[in-house]
Amino acid sequence: MPRTQTVKDYIRTIVDFPHEGIMFRDVTTLFADPRGFRMAIDQMLHPYAGQQIDKVVGLEARGFILGGAIAHQLSKGFVPVRKKGKLPAATIAEEYKLEYGEAVVEIHDDALSPGDNVLIVDDLLATGGTAAAGIKLCERLGAEVIGCAFIVDLPDLGGRTKLDEMGIDVHALCE
Ligand code: 5GP
Repeated sequence: MPRTQTVKDYIRTIVDFPHEGIMFRDVTTLFADPRGFRMAIDQMLHPYAGQQIDKVVGLEARGFILGGAIAHQLSKGFVPVRKKGKLPAATIAEEYKLEYGEAVVEIHDDALSPGDNVLIVDDLLATGGTAAAGIKLCERLGAEVIGCAFIVDLPDLGGRTKLDEMGIDVHALCE
């Protein structure tokens, strides 16, 4: 009998993308497969069953695809964290370090209310810079981040440790 497929089986690796030396974990093949996508959404939510979640926050851009499906599953609202300059109304911003240079992410300043319980979602955790900036934005609006859910964690890059140190629960489906 063939082995049951896991989420990892649906992810492909593209060598030298976006530049030489990078092994890019491509989750579009997971998203494109009906069983794979459903499995990923179900597994991302599994640890939070029974917990109060008021809003799902997705990190641009693949976090929008996951976050939309998760928010729908929970019948809760979805809030985007976007790269600088993309959100139309008043925002607050957080800067964070990239391998070369800096990036800025933003959230609408009225997107969350004090006391909201928030689940943050993205496809992949690497250094944790993007997720940490997203967490800070939510916390600055008075929300409580009850967890960060990812499909992939790249443990050598230290993201999980960084979020652990911020007191944030990290859930990833594979390494
Ligand atoms: P970090 O801020 O943790 O260093 O990087 C994570 C962010 O970069 C995530 O938003 C993620 O989408 C993106 N990212 C970095 N490397 C990869 C990769 O190999 N595959 C995918 N799908 N996303 C990546």
